[in-house]
Amino acid sequence: MIAGFEDISRQPLAHLPTPLEPMPRLTAHLGGPRLWVKRDDCTGLGLGGNKVRKLEYLMAEALAAGADSIVTGGATQSNHIRQSAAAAAKLGLGCDLAVMTGRVPGTEPVYDTTGNVLLDRLFGARLHKVDWRADRNQVISGILENARRAGREPHFIAYGGSSVTGALGYVRAAMEIAWQAKALGFTPRAVLHASGSAGTQAGLVAGMAAYLPETSVIGIDIDGEAARVAGDVSRLVEGLSERLGVPPGRVEVVGGHAGPGYGVPSPAMLEAVGLAARLEGLVLDPVYTGKGLAGLIALIRAGRFAKDEDVVFVHTGGAPAVFAYPAAMEGAIA
Ligand SMILES: *Cc1c(COP(=O)(O)O)cnc(C)c1O
Repeated sequence: MIAGFEDISRQPLAHLPTPLEPMPRLTAHLGGPRLWVKRDDCTGLGLGGNKVRKLEYLMAEALAAGADSIVTGGATQSNHIRQSAAAAAKLGLGCDLAVMTGRVPGTEPVYDTTGNVLLDRLFGARLHKVDWRADRNQVISGILENARRAGREPHFIAYGGSSVTGALGYVRAAMEIAWQAKALGFTPRAVLHASGSAGTQAGLVAGMAAYLPETSVIGIDIDGEAARVAGDVSRLVEGLSERLGVPPGRVEVVGGHAGPGYGVPSPAMLEAVGLAARLEGLVLDPVYTGKGLAGLIALIRAGRFAKDEDVVFVHTGGAPAVFAYPAAMEGAIA
C-alpha cells in the first residue's frame, strides 16, 4: 500500500478499471508464456489510450491552479495531444496544441489530416504547426505568453503528459493490475509495454515496486533512443519515489524494436499488428503498441520467459493512427 495515495487530487476522466484479459490464441501461436492484455486502449475518453490516466492527475493540477486553458505539444499523429484535447473539451477548458511536423520521414499523403489530427480538430483544439527541428520550447512559450496577454490562464502540460504528476496515473494502473491479477489467480512475471516519453513506465515501475515487487516492468523503446528513455524513466521514478515514499524499482528499457525510427513502419511491427488482429481481435497501432508487441514477441522467441509464466502486455491505445498509415497497414493483412 502507498500511504496517502488516495488523497492526491485526481479529476476522474477514464473508464476504470480497464479490463485485464487473457490472450489464449496468441499464447498458443507463440507456444507460451501465458499472455494477458491490460486494455488501456479502453480508458474511454476521446477514443481512449494511456494518456487519459495521466490527464486525471494533470487536469486536477491545472484546475487547482485556476487554469482556463491548457497548452501541450506532440508529433502530428500524437495520441497524447488528441487525448489532451478531449479532456480539455470535457472540462470546458481551452486547448492549444503545438503540432510538430516533419518528425516522421516518408509519411503517407493522409498522415497530416486524418486519424488523430482529425480528432484534435473535432475536439475544438487550436492547432499551431511547428517544424520538429525548430525550437519547440520557444514556440510553446510564445503560445503561453499570447494566451496570458489575452487575459487567459493557460497551463502547460509536459510532452506525453510525462511529469511526476502525470506518472501517478500509472502508479494507479499498477495497483489495478496487482488486484486484478490476484483475483484471476496469477502473479505476473513481467508487465511489458511501449515506452516513449517515460511517464507510463515510471508509474508502473514505482507502482509495481509497491504492490508486486517480484514483477519486472519492461519498456520497449519505440523512439530508437533506449538510453535516453531509460534516463527519463529513472528521473521520473526518483521523483515518484520521493513523492510517494516507495522504494525505487528497477528500470529496464529494451532497444532494437523501433525499426528505422519513431513512427516509421517495420516488418516486425506489421507482423505483431497482424497477429493481434487475427488472433485476438485487437487493434494495435503502427507507432507504439505494434512495436511494443513486436518487442515482446522477440523476447519470447529469445527464451526470456518460461512457458508456465504469466506476462501482461499493456495495450496503451493509439488505434486512430492506423488510419494515417493505410498503405503501410496492407503489410499487416494476411
Ligand atoms: C504515449 C504512448 C505510449 C508511450 O507512453 P509514454 O508514457 O510516453 O512512454 C505508448 N503507447 C501509446 C499508444 C501512446 O500514445
